Amino acid sequence: MANYFTDNTDLLFHFNRLKLEEVVEIAEHGYTEAKEYDFAPVDYQDALDNYRKVLEIVGDITANSVAPQAAAVDEEGSHFVDGKVQYAKGIQEALGLLTQAELMGFTLPRRYGGLNIPTTLYTMAIEMVSRAEASLMNLFGLQDIAETINKYGTEEQRQEFLPQFASGAATGAMALTEPDAGSDLQAVNMLAYQDADGQWRLKGVKRFITNGNAEIVLVLARSEPGTKDGRGLSLFACYGKDNIVIRRIENKLGIHGSPTCEMQFNDTPAQLIGKRKFGLIKYVMDMMNGARLGVAGQALGISQAAYEEALRYAKAREQFGKSIYKIPVITNMLMDMRVTLESDRSLLYAACHWVDLRNKLEEKADLLKAEGKDSTAENAKLKEATRVAALLTPMAKYVLSENSNRITYDALQIHGGTGYMKEFNAERLTRDARITNIYEGTSQLQIVAATGGVINDIFADDFTAREQKETSGSLARLADELKEMRVLFLDALKYVTDKTDKHFQSIAAKELVEIYSYLYTGWLLMDEAEEDSRKVFIARRYIIGAAAKTRRNWDTIKKDLFADLLHAEDILI
Ligand SMILES: Cc1cc2nc3c(=O)[nH]c(=O)nc-3n(C[C@H](O)[C@H](O)[C@H](O)COP(=O)(O)OP(=O)(O)OC[C@H]3O[C@@H](n4cnc5c(N)ncnc54)[C@H](O)[C@@H]3O)c2cc1C
Repeated sequence: MANYFTDNTDLLFHFNRLKLEEVVEIAEHGYTEAKEYDFAPVDYQDALDNYRKVLEIVGDITANSVAPQAAAVDEEGSHFVDGKVQYAKGIQEALGLLTQAELMGFTLPRRYGGLNIPTTLYTMAIEMVSRAEASLMNLFGLQDIAETINKYGTEEQRQEFLPQFASGAATGAMALTEPDAGSDLQAVNMLAYQDADGQWRLKGVKRFITNGNAEIVLVLARSEPGTKDGRGLSLFACYGKDNIVIRRIENKLGIHGSPTCEMQFNDTPAQLIGKRKFGLIKYVMDMMNGARLGVAGQALGISQAAYEEALRYAKAREQFGKSIYKIPVITNMLMDMRVTLESDRSLLYAACHWVDLRNKLEEKADLLKAEGKDSTAENAKLKEATRVAALLTPMAKYVLSENSNRITYDALQIHGGTGYMKEFNAERLTRDARITNIYEGTSQLQIVAATGGVINDIFADDFTAREQKETSGSLARLADELKEMRVLFLDALKYVTDKTDKHFQSIAAKELVEIYSYLYTGWLLMDEAEEDSRKVFIARRYIIGAAAKTRRNWDTIKKDLFADLLHAEDILI
């Protein structure tokens, strides 16, 4: 029987080389949870065995129950009847199955009914769900909302909301965007006020909200009258359904199974989450980072599905008396797709590793502080993990979502005219991929978020150490390519920073972030190539290709391609 976990050799490769000992030790409170819950792991190996079993269940459900419904879900879409939103039949059934398998509280603590599983494994589950049916991920992937309440809510709020999420009784929505506040969330205008009884209430409109029909909604709103920026915004939780009017659902290009709602709040009662004024600057930023990894996982799942469709079709389709798979141009396209897919997976799970480490070190440092114990060592490690996670999260979201668009585009191309037809999955996957570089922050915003880490060259020591390591054979040549790429990066970086021209810097940031992603991913693939001889092929194609792209980006910066920005008015007629 098909299984999206056990049949995916590359996903298994990453699962088998997880190094989450420190993360799991903290998550399991030194494995003391096992004394309270008989299903909690007793050691790291036991935890990995548990994770494997859970991912096998996800792999089974997604391959055998979700994927076969994907085309029907896309065709049917969500319904909006008498002011109520209804999911497509396949979505409703899939949610039922995921709930039955107790998978709706993946990362939540056990005391609220969750599985207490790290983000890395949750992202692997997201990848599989998205491979089967991208829009289902939008509902399965909303577990970040529960995580935000877990992290910043009071114990009372945790007890009130979290079991509802974990049991599948409630789904969530994250309501940030408004007609005049999209990328610029500081412009959020929704009013939050306290009535005569001190009850918080929300008034205003949110648009483009995934699953806005949810039972529990987290809302960003302006709680500080007279303010104009992000410091006047707070985060609230409220019950949806009868408390919020859904004005419409969007008629959109892809992810048809996930309803995108316009919501009207008419003095909706709400609870403040955490502290006033920290809504955007801390809680939403934190929540979006988790959500960005989720979207990167969604992009990867779509890429995996598209690659497989293309490979299968290329092998079956004959032209000029042979399978098109044997035509070198097509073989080459498929190889590019495969290498992109595998390098994307390496970058994503490296990012997840650092996010898990950051989250768990933060938990440990807070716990030690609360117990009046010394947390100096944890704080130092936490600082490093925070810095790395803050760069790798937007980088992964940017790279994987853009690549998903490329892979689905090529998958459709390999299908020829058939790819343009609805009977084949390539068409749906191409449409579904298109959202991944727009929501949870567009690609342009991911570059803005990644720029600081790149300009500060935060992997400088790491790259230097790797460059000094002995390599032999074909890997030595690849190491030389990476060293050369770094010289070009440093040269371009100096050129950009020396210019002290803010406009130029903001445009050149894309070129710099890309080169940095090539360097980081290239070294990840070198590690993998040392462990597995097949990965030498992946590293080779990736690094030689990345070296060429690095030279192009360097040239773009050094030859002042963007100097004509001064003449934009003359060009843009
Ligand atoms: C299907 C779907 C589901 C969604 N789900 C949710 C949800 O659940 N919750 C929620 O709150 N929101 C949701 N959104 C909203 C989504 O997050 C926003 O659409 C997105 O962040 C972009 O905002 P915008 O559409 O207003 O575009 P704008 O911000 O108007 O951007 C337009 C263009 O300008 C560029 N741009 C803007 N500012 C900058 C800058 N400083 N530097 C460089 N370029 C810039 C953008 O990259 C983009 O290309 C969803 C959107 C869609 C389409």
